Amino acid sequence: MKQRLMTPGPSPVPEETLLELAKPVTYHRSAQFRQLLGEVLEDLKYVYCTRNSIAVLTASGTGGMEAAVANCLPPGSKAIVGVAGKFGERWRNIAKAFGVEVISVAVPYGQAVQPEQIEQALKQHPDAAAVCATLSETSTGVRHDIRAFGEIITRTNALFLVDGISGLGVAECRTDDWHIDLCITGSQKALMLPPGLSFVSVSDKAWQRIDQNSPSRVFYFDLRKYRDSLKTNDTPFTPANTLLRALSVSLKKLRAEGIENVWARHARMAAACRAGVQALGLELFAAQPIDGLTVVKTPEGIDGVALVSKLEKQYGIRIAGGQDPLKGKIFRIAHMGYMDQFDVLAALAALEMVLLEMGYTLTPGSSVAAAQQVLVQQVRTAQMV
Ligand SMILES: *Cc1c(COP(=O)(O)O)cnc(C)c1O
Repeated sequence: MKQRLMTPGPSPVPEETLLELAKPVTYHRSAQFRQLLGEVLEDLKYVYCTRNSIAVLTASGTGGMEAAVANCLPPGSKAIVGVAGKFGERWRNIAKAFGVEVISVAVPYGQAVQPEQIEQALKQHPDAAAVCATLSETSTGVRHDIRAFGEIITRTNALFLVDGISGLGVAECRTDDWHIDLCITGSQKALMLPPGLSFVSVSDKAWQRIDQNSPSRVFYFDLRKYRDSLKTNDTPFTPANTLLRALSVSLKKLRAEGIENVWARHARMAAACRAGVQALGLELFAAQPIDGLTVVKTPEGIDGVALVSKLEKQYGIRIAGGQDPLKGKIFRIAHMGYMDQFDVLAALAALEMVLLEMGYTLTPGSSVAAAQQVLVQQVRTAQMV
């Protein structure tokens, strides 16, 4: 059976990238490696829409979040944290682990933190050293208006820390224009690579703060070490150079498509997927959805855990269920990274078959048809322009 990986991390990896991963391991203190890193960083800056320097960490995405907190927020400092799900909670928990006083701006799961709430919190806490936000709250499928947050935060002394891990390379995210001081992503979401790397861009405003802080509770994730090494396109510790070579292949693919086209492809897949599930009478969970995944409420009378497991066992389509309080209540179909419209149609077709088998009433083909309509309509519109 053909396997389709449609989880919101990890995501599928293109064949040419997999082939690169199969090549022999090379030594990293070499001119070739420095050239490779230089190229990869240029391509990453393109994806990030930034001129800031980017640290490459051998860690999953959470390592990048920890690096951001450890370097920017000394113990006893204050951070405003937007919490709309598991990953906002992760920001909060990391900050707490580093002795940071957390001001939570929380909304119920499925909702998005609003810019006015951030503005209000900054007014109440003018001494906040940072605001932490999540571009794509993967646990609920919510998109945050990072641009609006940035416009508010840039007028203050606070640094703007953004977890862009499942959003960067999916939806518009302009690090510099949107005043993001530290933007974090991981390799296994939209960048079309296996897990193992995390990237952190750092603005000038943030470097000034980091230099003043001289963080003492950090060693491996001391961003100043990465900045020093970057002067010669190098890394302070052994880099995951095999992954970096593979990344270079995936980023070339992104560059060839063009970042705006990449965002548009995700928007098309998301529109088709949303139309498909709604045509089945199912409800979307996210009030303000991101384009990298579609999060759906499990309908009444259907076992959500069984649904996810049947999709995988019977049809080879691996989607994700809900986590913790949302277990069984939602399911999450990812369409991020190396995916196209036919992956979405396949997932919808299989979803119909599983729902039918589980006794849910639907007309076979109805979600696929609705998704096709959306996709064709978009082709027509594009031709008219
Ligand atoms: C995947 C993800 C992370 C990081 O998780 P890791 O398991 O550490 O890679 C963080 N934030 C968001 C929004 C994510 O989607």
